Amino acid sequence: MHDLAPYAVNASNSRGRSIAEDAPQGRSEFQRDRDRIIHSGAFRRLEYKTQVFVNHEGDLFRTRLTHSIEVAQIARSIARRLHLNEDLAEAISLAHDLGHTPFGHAGQDALNACMKAYGGFEHNLQSLRVVDLLEERYAEFDGLNLCFETRAGILKHCSAENAAQLGEVGERFLRDQRPSLEAQIANLADEIAYNNHDVDDGLRSGLITLEQLAEVPLVAAHLHEVRAAYPALPERRVVHETVRRMINTLVSDLIRQSERNIGAQRLVSLEDVYSAPALIAFSTEIAEQQRVLKNFLRTQLYRHYHVMRMSAKAQRIISELFGIFMADKRLLPPQFQQREARDDADRARAVADYVAGMTDRYAIREHRRIFAVEEVPV
Ligand code: MG
Repeated sequence: MHDLAPYAVNASNSRGRSIAEDAPQGRSEFQRDRDRIIHSGAFRRLEYKTQVFVNHEGDLFRTRLTHSIEVAQIARSIARRLHLNEDLAEAISLAHDLGHTPFGHAGQDALNACMKAYGGFEHNLQSLRVVDLLEERYAEFDGLNLCFETRAGILKHCSAENAAQLGEVGERFLRDQRPSLEAQIANLADEIAYNNHDVDDGLRSGLITLEQLAEVPLVAAHLHEVRAAYPALPERRVVHETVRRMINTLVSDLIRQSERNIGAQRLVSLEDVYSAPALIAFSTEIAEQQRVLKNFLRTQLYRHYHVMRMSAKAQRIISELFGIFMADKRLLPPQFQQREARDDADRARAVADYVAGMTDRYAIREHRRIFAVEEVPV
């Protein structure tokens, strides 16, 4: 690997795995984490989970899988340039959405509402549950037994109440400490990826137009540049040329500003990163432009009536599935029925784990299998 800065996470300063294992041969500890994530069942299911559009709406829209790969690609480029641990940034990026419910944010909100009396549901915490507990692949432990830094990077935010129950991985929330710079990078790479691909997917869907986007500063400058340079270029190519310039601007700005922030802190060790303020950041100007773009996407795309109709359906599917499984656990697949439950909260958590693990199409089918009165193939 390239030269690592003294404040980068390194296998030698890692806090290691919950269950000690022999050092990997021919790959780093964080490459091993990445490999375990890629081979997990939850990772494969990301192919059929969505961000904004539901999986069956079109083959070219981003899914959580392609989104996670884009996040990893952006995070690696940034980590390399800043002499940080590229493998760790990649592992965190690939795992960051493993706990997402079917149907994007509509699904998460619905499941959170169902779980209100039982401690709530948070996709971020669920991603950690997936890698710590829910994957069943190893003889000697539940989950994937990932390194502390990978797990801590996955846990982006967390309430003090939940943090107190999570042990060492929750400690930083109680001490008000920052995560590693690699985790901070994965977090902002996520933002860069979804803002840009939602512009692309939004245009492809026809729910937003280039004319509307020409009013958004982060898009406008690049769009004008592309149109001036290539007046006869077909629209799809105009979009790609614009989006790639936007990603480039955001990535370069993030690298430049973060270098400045890191330089100002005189960091000498990883411990310094934990106690410093968040150092991976956009410049004030670009952060503001990102905010305007996000706001545009929220009002024009995420709240478009076409998206809202699908979200409403999604919420109904999630809450009806949750309700019926809570009412009669005999309808659950055996492995979820058999989970030891001391009380309703435990039972609800098993139902939430089952529902959250579903892909969009599996949830639709499961809903039909249970609720449809007409004959449905099993
Ligand atoms: Mg994401």
